[in-house]
Amino acid sequence: MSGESVKVAVRCRPFNSREKERKAKLIIRMNGKQTSITNPADGQVKDFAFDFSYWSHEGFFEDDNGYLNPNPGSTYSSQRVVFEDLGMGVLNNAYEGYNTSLFAYGQTGSGKSYSMIGYGSNKGIVPITCDELFKKIETNTDDTKFEVKFSMLEIYNEQVRDLLNKTNPKGGLPVRENPKLGLFYVGDLKKVAVGSYAEIERRIEEGNNNRTVASTQMNATSSRAHTVVTIEFVQKKMQDGKEMAKTSVMNLVDLAGSERADSTGATGDRLKEGANINKSLSALGNVIKALADISMGTKKKVNIPYRDSVLTKLLKNALGGNSKTIMIAALSPADINYDETLSTLRYADRAKNIKNKAVVNENPVD
Ligand code: ADP
Ligand code: MG
Repeated sequence: MSGESVKVAVRCRPFNSREKERKAKLIIRMNGKQTSITNPADGQVKDFAFDFSYWSHEGFFEDDNGYLNPNPGSTYSSQRVVFEDLGMGVLNNAYEGYNTSLFAYGQTGSGKSYSMIGYGSNKGIVPITCDELFKKIETNTDDTKFEVKFSMLEIYNEQVRDLLNKTNPKGGLPVRENPKLGLFYVGDLKKVAVGSYAEIERRIEEGNNNRTVASTQMNATSSRAHTVVTIEFVQKKMQDGKEMAKTSVMNLVDLAGSERADSTGATGDRLKEGANINKSLSALGNVIKALADISMGTKKKVNIPYRDSVLTKLLKNALGGNSKTIMIAALSPADINYDETLSTLRYADRAKNIKNKAVVNENPVD
């Protein structure tokens, strides 16, 4: 099958305090694009190759602003480096009129939100990309008209909640199908026009405050939901007497933790959440597997089970459709997380095989 492969990056974070307390051992090594993991039980090493392997485990210093910079000569990958490799592509695609999807996968506490949104002055891909998007709009000199729209939702227990609304209907917002396009969308979702980067920043904060937060043993503040930020970027311009619009939809997805419910000591409600999260993530895994089977030619007729979960319905375009897609898989460096980290590496390895068919979205304005 022709098309462009999903770009896959992995990133290894520093030890956290829990890992340090437990005197965890480093089991991840990186060399260029290669990532290897050592099984602490028998010392066996498994190798993987990705589009990018980011070493953010050590080799950095904190500057006066709290920003983490690489030490001279170290291979530490800062937020800036990750933006330049991944965010810059998202930005250029937006201007060319391609849809882009960027999603972060990994167990709770592995660094998904750090890479996507970031903390403090260590801003992640999403804010830097939005910042650059508006900088480019501000320096534009021709007669192009720009429109930027923002929405933010979460999928929690297979229900969609609008994060720009304090109150949501019981049972969540409806997921509807557009039969003409063969795509799904969220009905009644609030989409707000934004005129600056600062406005987007405020909206992300507003959305974050409306998130469903539950504590687990793994990470007391982590959300057990999938968070999806969508930015719609439209450029309108006169061409041969007709007004044309170039549209790019950017889907930025911070997935819920990929750990199995039993490994976090979940019971009752938390277990139900875990089961539903696993339903969405295992549906995502099944879609990835089906797409990989097609692109590797191992199976000819494969049904792609997009309809099996809310997440895969909404990510349909991102997976095998009209989108340029990037996955960033976040890794814990520690031996105590070996099973989860290996499963993340395998998931990421499979995602490399997905082929998408992105086209420029340009149409006359009617
Ligand atoms: P997740 O969203 O996967 O649950 P977080 O992104 O919140 O995990 O990361 C957990 C902790 O690890 C945070 O305190 C974060 O600051 C730290 N961290 C994650 N990735 C990095 C990194 N690349 N460099 C430095 N610290 C990181
Ligand atoms: Mg997070």
